[in-house]
Amino acid sequence: SVVAQPRAEGGLEQTYVMVKPDGVQRGLVGEIISRFEKKGFRLAGLKMFQCPEDLAKKHYEELQEKPFFPKLVKYITSGPVVCMAWEGPGVVASARKLIGSTNPLQAEPGTIRGDLAVAVGRNVIHGSDSVANGEREIGLWFGEAELCKWQPELTPWLLE
Ligand code: UDP
Repeated sequence: SVVAQPRAEGGLEQTYVMVKPDGVQRGLVGEIISRFEKKGFRLAGLKMFQCPEDLAKKHYEELQEKPFFPKLVKYITSGPVVCMAWEGPGVVASARKLIGSTNPLQAEPGTIRGDLAVAVGRNVIHGSDSVANGEREIGLWFGEAELCKWQPELTPWLLE
């Protein structure tokens, strides 16, 4: 069959990607969505959202001891973000590659941060760093009813 083989759990790998407030204000939403679409990943969830402080703290709880944590929470809550769930084989690691290094000055040209940002505290985008965190973050940012299970007609042209 040409239909994509889902994971044993019944779905493809998923990652949580978010255009941060600077990316929204700078009009980079379309460009960023475009890069994931063109790569061949499947959009399963998408919304614009003003993040409350408690959610920002929960999302970044692993970093709460870091000196930049208060600034990070302020940054993420400083304006609306665009929340996305992307699906596809190896999407967690691949999204991290498309995004580039945390510090945009160290990010390779061709990556989102490498092409579109200069400061670590204004690095325009988030992507989950593991499959487990992808699931955790999608659960934090999306309700079940906001996630769309669909099979694009294009799938057999993208996945064997
Ligand atoms: N960050 C920061 N200063 C630092 C390191 C990180 O402001 O020295 C911010 C930055 O926005 C980064 C986020 O904290 O994207 C989360 O840090 P992490 O190390 O998890 O990087 P990421 O996974 O986003 O590349």
